[in-house]
Amino acid sequence: MELQPIIRNIYVHIPFCRSRCPYCDFFSVKFDKNYPLKSLILKEISMDKEKWDLSNIKNIYFGGGTPSIYNADFYRDILDLIGNNISEVSIEINPEDGKHIDFKALKDAGVTRISLGIQTFQERSLNLLGRNYNKNDIIDTIEKISNDFGNFSYDRLIGIPFDSERVLKEDLDLFLRSKPPHISLYILTLNSTQKNIIKNRPDDNLVARLYKKASEILQDNEYEHYEISNFAKEKKYCNYNIDVWNCKDYIGIGPGAVGTIENKRYFNFSSLKRYEQQLNANELPIEKIEELNEKEQKFENLMLGMRTKWGVNIKKIRKFLNMKKVNKFYKEGYLNIENGNLKLTENGFLFYNSIVTEVGG
Ligand code: SF4
Repeated sequence: MELQPIIRNIYVHIPFCRSRCPYCDFFSVKFDKNYPLKSLILKEISMDKEKWDLSNIKNIYFGGGTPSIYNADFYRDILDLIGNNISEVSIEINPEDGKHIDFKALKDAGVTRISLGIQTFQERSLNLLGRNYNKNDIIDTIEKISNDFGNFSYDRLIGIPFDSERVLKEDLDLFLRSKPPHISLYILTLNSTQKNIIKNRPDDNLVARLYKKASEILQDNEYEHYEISNFAKEKKYCNYNIDVWNCKDYIGIGPGAVGTIENKRYFNFSSLKRYEQQLNANELPIEKIEELNEKEQKFENLMLGMRTKWGVNIKKIRKFLNMKKVNKFYKEGYLNIENGNLKLTENGFLFYNSIVTEVGG
């Protein structure tokens, strides 16, 4: 028997949204209630089960798109097929769906962790971002989630229209009231077309100050800054993401999903029609496969590992590092070396992109 890789993670992409937010770069299309997404996903998982040993799966992440378009039955059937040794099942929820979601049923179906995409409580900013909910929707959804789930996370976008230190503090204050075990802060990044659509944004200097301020507020409130965008209390990390940052294998399921197994990265068809046709023809819906060469693997190791507070084992990537640059950033206080790991300092996180590019060159 061929030796099977140990695969611990599955990502399931839900490709539908009710409308398109003008800043979004994720793959999603308008919701089509007649599209047989669940049966196609079940078929894809069954085919993957024939190909790979899925008995070691520990973490599943349902991302999108808008996974909260579907109800608990949808997720129960998928989770039942994958198996029952799973310790973490995360799902992204949009606040406008809070009213119709039965969170208890979702928990009974096997979901263990909710990630709520709040972004901000400021309604004029939400409108400009194309988000379809208001402050009350968020508050109602938070109440339902915190009643039924011990493990949940909120997202806050930094650099949104009208963002300021006052607005940020107001938002974080509301976040902290319900004691979320986990908070993510993402900086809004836009291409030139999106920049023309979304106006009234703070400049880059203010965005950097806001990120720093938010990070300080969360750390003052005993959140551990464990990844560039992520903060957790009592080690309630997102374990799926930790495995991805550690370059562990993951299976990608659903239209437009990406997976990586044994340094082969595969991309599912993002055309819903092609995805369906492939599965109906009993073929996995893979559009292309790229093999990562050694240099690409090490660079990815560096890029992903340096996002975390633990950094990356220097021995693993030493021959790909520009040691002159490492020394320079070390002396300037942006990099640290601890227990043989190279890692960014809090100030280094602010310049993640340029530092990683320079030391990996
Ligand atoms: S809801 Fe999320 S995935 Fe959908 S368009 Fe908006 S940002 Fe993108």
